[in-house]
Amino acid sequence: MEVSCRIIFCILLLAAVSMEGAEPESESESEESSIISRFQQYLKINTAQPTPRYQEVADFLISEGKGLSLESESIEFVGGKPLVLLKWEGKNPHLPSILLYSHTDVVPSEHSKWTHHPFSAHLDSHGRIFARGSQDMKCVGMQYLEAVRRLKARNFQPLRSLYLAFSPDEEIGGHDGAEKFAQSEIFQRMNVGVVLDEGLASPDAHYRAFYAERTPWWMVIKSVGAPGHGSKLYDNSAMENLLKSIESIRRFRASQFDLIKAGLKAEGDVVSVNMVFLKAGTPSPTGFVMNLQPSEAEAGFDIRVPPTADPESLERRIAEEWAPSSRNMSFSFKQKAPTRNKSGKPILTKTDGSNPWWDLFENAVQKAGGKLGKPEVFPAATDSRYFRELGLPAIGFSPMANTPVLLHDHNEFLHKDEYLKGIEIYESIIKAYASFNDHGRDGASKDEL
Ligand SMILES: [Zn+2]
Repeated sequence: MEVSCRIIFCILLLAAVSMEGAEPESESESEESSIISRFQQYLKINTAQPTPRYQEVADFLISEGKGLSLESESIEFVGGKPLVLLKWEGKNPHLPSILLYSHTDVVPSEHSKWTHHPFSAHLDSHGRIFARGSQDMKCVGMQYLEAVRRLKARNFQPLRSLYLAFSPDEEIGGHDGAEKFAQSEIFQRMNVGVVLDEGLASPDAHYRAFYAERTPWWMVIKSVGAPGHGSKLYDNSAMENLLKSIESIRRFRASQFDLIKAGLKAEGDVVSVNMVFLKAGTPSPTGFVMNLQPSEAEAGFDIRVPPTADPESLERRIAEEWAPSSRNMSFSFKQKAPTRNKSGKPILTKTDGSNPWWDLFENAVQKAGGKLGKPEVFPAATDSRYFRELGLPAIGFSPMANTPVLLHDHNEFLHKDEYLKGIEIYESIIKAYASFNDHGRDGASKDEL
């Protein structure tokens, strides 16, 4: 019995080996390798801030767009920083259009700490593609293009016009790209109805989608007090005043962090506060004067405020507890982005029945076999804010399930199977969005937002 089983197994094995050897590479295999190689080409262009190869990446994207017969242009709101805009005109160009948005720049990387060079786009034996930008967010930009390629190959014709925008400077604030783009006449003429932008990888099987983001408040608090001998104990020195504030801020930080640790709130739903600098002391040629208590001290904090928080109560807390004038403290903001729009409503995209784009999105992901987690608030800032501030629905989404979150980290990678799956997901979303034929509900959703 055992012997005959072995013989059968050997015959099967031989058959399998000979089939593999005899058969030419299948069509889908060669298609897959060209998809991966286009992704690698994009990844290999060094677009790290502060000196991205803007021209090279714009040329690459325009040639990709032309290859797909898309209308293409390179727009420079600021000289030398091109935003590439590709267009697939819909059958009814009067309907609000779809904007598939991404950024081309990436953050710098410490090459020596990477296993493979961050611009080599190395594909390892496990199928992982290592590159800066593989998660944030060259994957998404290229997946949009691949989804369009497939839809074109299937003779799909969009009803609504579809735009693909590749902007130059998200990683340094987006001021010369998305911000100017959203305010431009070009953007107005595009008559955008909905925006898709970046999300985050998910370590489990669910994709993550983001409907809002926390806004940065960069605060500096300053204390003053009488200077004194280093040996003297007295009240109201600048250092003492500042330390009291730091203690109070730390307690608040811990209370917010506890909510996350207890599983009561997600990261994007709490106010985070982190100290980013401390500036005090009287310099001397050998360091600092050691027997003098200084008359001034400063500390800087990166605060992130979710749209669901009450900004007035936070401002009160800052003025009364963190930098009270009664303790010779003052505060100022290096940056303070609004959490509410002009009509006083929180800046967020609805994820209920009132927003048809959300329903379409959810159904399209499901239809393509993807599982969506509960929609979240993005913990940091993205270019989506410039579109949400206009009242446009914007969904942050990067289809990467079963993937560790490695954006801005060493050895950023994306598995090729996740990348390929993401293309199917976008194909489904684009199909649903570009076919959506409901003018009336468009208007309603925008007013509500
Ligand atoms: Zn990004």
